[in-house]
Amino acid sequence: MVAKSRTAINAGQSDRLEGVSDGRVGEHAVEAALPPLQDRFGRTFDYVRIAVTEKCNLRCTYCMPEEGVDFQGKEKILSAEETLRTIGVLARMGVRKVRFTGGEPLVRKDIIELVAGAAATPGIKSVHLTTNGLLFDRYAERLKEAGLTGVNISLDTFDADKFLKITRREGLDKVLDSIKLALDLGFPRVKVNVVMMRGFNDTELRNFTELARDNRLTVRFIEFMPFDAHQIWETGVHFTSAESLVQQIEGMYPGIRPAPGSRTEHHIFQAPEHAGKIAIIPAFTRSLCGNCSRIRVTADGSIRNCLYSDQEYGLRDLMRNDGSDDDIVGLFRQAFEQKEKDGFEAKKASSVQQVDVKNIGRTSMTQIGG
Ligand code: SAM
Ligand code: SF4
Repeated sequence: MVAKSRTAINAGQSDRLEGVSDGRVGEHAVEAALPPLQDRFGRTFDYVRIAVTEKCNLRCTYCMPEEGVDFQGKEKILSAEETLRTIGVLARMGVRKVRFTGGEPLVRKDIIELVAGAAATPGIKSVHLTTNGLLFDRYAERLKEAGLTGVNISLDTFDADKFLKITRREGLDKVLDSIKLALDLGFPRVKVNVVMMRGFNDTELRNFTELARDNRLTVRFIEFMPFDAHQIWETGVHFTSAESLVQQIEGMYPGIRPAPGSRTEHHIFQAPEHAGKIAIIPAFTRSLCGNCSRIRVTADGSIRNCLYSDQEYGLRDLMRNDGSDDDIVGLFRQAFEQKEKDGFEAKKASSVQQVDVKNIGRTSMTQIGG
């Protein structure tokens, strides 16, 4: 049985933030704090994931086709100023955690400016980045100085041939070095993201879980989701459920326990004598939607209230048409008033029922923001 973990790890490793009730972070008071962003089911949204580019220097088969996707021109992508304005407004609505993702956020030249700006925003308590790790060494120290608190590095295999197969590029050693560098530099939260694929990397499960034995990091196993442009997912060949992963991991480590903390959208465990944690994310089976706290902003400036909804709210155009901060607040409230109970309802309410490469408009996680 999957034990429903109600928590996250110890202080500093929680994916969900605690103890920010007075609207103050450090010295900075949050200017004119607004009521929190909530939906009709009583969920509060205090975590924003912002895709800062659609571009990427890898071509992971579960994410992007070899030829890339129809990348939009720079003028369609939110500028640093627009991104930071959005974060400032959200912070007034109680958002405390920011994650920059993509595409590959480190291909964006102004990534340090974005991180520094987010970290300096009154109310923002932590700033994170999800990266494939290839360019991490180029920016790592400056990211730390800019105030980055957490790094998630994606790695699906320890085998160089499989790495080439899944990403269609070389670079395994660089990714491994980046994980080590993130730990050596002392980023408070270091996580390794693994998309679990039956018949591809499931034989490496223990190699991944063992990363958590001596390292203060969290290894996160993510269910394969149907957002791969070429529909490998549809074949069902590679799908591994979170429930079966939890069972396997519980079997591997007698005495493993849910790690204490606050509610999250993940199952999080710590094995006895492990320095780090193991998390399992039911991204497809969607069993923890009730705990959702996420707001998504696409690289081209649309609000998404759920990964499985195709409903989008045009933030970029609002800002470019002289929308006020109050208008931005109103658009986020509208988006979250319309959020469905869970990812299944969101999918049902979407106009495209089957993930259809030709019709969905967004064919890849790089466009939605992973
Ligand atoms: N390029 C960065 C990276 O790979 O870490 C950030 C963007 S990527 C879209 C964010 C995360 O989404 C990565 O951990 C990636 O493995 C995951 N991802 C992409 N496509 C996925 C899919 N179809 N199912 C599950 N996870 C996926
Ligand atoms: Fe690029 Fe990340 Fe998608 Fe891989 S998962 S193609 S690294 S955006």
